[in-house]
Amino acid sequence: MSDAVKFVLDESRLPRSWYNLQADLPVPLPPVLHPGTQKPIGPSDLAPLFPEELIRQEVSLEREIEIPGPVRDIYRQWRPSPLYRARRLEKALQTPARIYYKWEGVSPAGSHKPNTAVPQAFYNREAGIRRIATETGAGQWGSSLAFAGALFGIDVTVYMVRVSYNQKPYRRALMETWGARCVASPSMETESGRAILALRPDHPGSLGIAISEAVEVAAKSDDTKYALGSVLNHVLMHQTVIGLEAMEQLEMAGDYPDVIVGCTGGGSNFAGIAFPFLGAQLRGGRKVRIVAVEPAACPSLTRGKYAYDYGDTAHLTPLVKMHTLGSTFTPPGFHAGGLRYHGMAPLVSHVQELGLIEPVSFHQTACFQAGLQFARTEGILPAPEANHAVVAAIQEAVKCRESGTAKTILFNLCGHGHFDMQAYMDFMAGKLTDLEYDPTELAMALAGLPSVT
Ligand SMILES: *Cc1c(COP(=O)(O)O)cnc(C)c1O
Repeated sequence: MSDAVKFVLDESRLPRSWYNLQADLPVPLPPVLHPGTQKPIGPSDLAPLFPEELIRQEVSLEREIEIPGPVRDIYRQWRPSPLYRARRLEKALQTPARIYYKWEGVSPAGSHKPNTAVPQAFYNREAGIRRIATETGAGQWGSSLAFAGALFGIDVTVYMVRVSYNQKPYRRALMETWGARCVASPSMETESGRAILALRPDHPGSLGIAISEAVEVAAKSDDTKYALGSVLNHVLMHQTVIGLEAMEQLEMAGDYPDVIVGCTGGGSNFAGIAFPFLGAQLRGGRKVRIVAVEPAACPSLTRGKYAYDYGDTAHLTPLVKMHTLGSTFTPPGFHAGGLRYHGMAPLVSHVQELGLIEPVSFHQTACFQAGLQFARTEGILPAPEANHAVVAAIQEAVKCRESGTAKTILFNLCGHGHFDMQAYMDFMAGKLTDLEYDPTELAMALAGLPSVT
């Protein structure tokens, strides 16, 4: 076993293809349904929203899909990303476990999201699209797409959840720096936005509403498409560069994970690190425990229902089968904005139903505590979302200490927290509390799920 701290792959070892888990699933994914007819949708139903190649990837059963040259050329700016062995953290925890983390904060936008923003912008440009409309919560996805849009000459309009728009001016400024237009959502620019503002002029917004606005804009104009930063099959697939690289890097280390940990908002960074290993397992390789970590205040995998639901509040999207808290559910305002979505990726939901992954949830103060411990040992300040993976990895390492077993733990450190210093300041000042979701609201949101016959 290697005694190195950092495992770096040469540029030439950048993956040539993404990995598509759909090729190895023992049971296929349930179909996506048309909200009107409740019949499976076809590619033409999605054509107003996405370029043809992304629709093809969404339903493809091919195991490997080639990464286009121009996308690899941009990936090379920060990929392959480094894999680290967390030796100082291991020492602080006095654990016999070996902890590795894949560091995705090295991208220009500071998270894993450019891994899909770049190919999405590329395929749109190839299809002659001039403008992309999208939503963003805390701003990580909006800034990643703004970055990718700038490189491919595509105009990007971002509907940003109004509370975040007001609270996170620097993320907004970053999007504008890359040339995107950022609009507080709900806005007066769309029917969906106007309908909500008519009822409540000071509405704080939600991801579900912002998605409705962006989808509406794309559906109504010929030169504009829509892009989503998580949840969809093709998005999860683009993120598999993370796990594919980690596999090679662990081979350099002479190691293989017993446990893989990732945080889950819509499921993309988790799938990115875990699916290549899960695929190897499904093809007869070594079994790995895979742990999905979500916030206790927005617990779609641990408390949601596995059911058909809409992806947005205005019900403009198709129906997908997923773990959901209901499209009308509004999670409390905890600090990991990237994890505040009512649903979960259909692929992640499906593998949970098949018993291939384990979900756990943590409250925010435990996450920030773990984030501080990580920053004070490893030196890197994780995003509040990433802290969910950090706390669960630490917990696994502590279990190893207690049982005296030397397991190998791999987790995805999906982004840095440099734009989230207010949250860290609040935590260090003792001002953060653990927020609970409202159980009555959850029951109502679940009761309102569409009935699918
Ligand atoms: C967006 C985001 C998430 C949540 O999205 P996933 O699709 O679940 O990965 C988590 N961490 C960071 C840093 C993000 O930007």
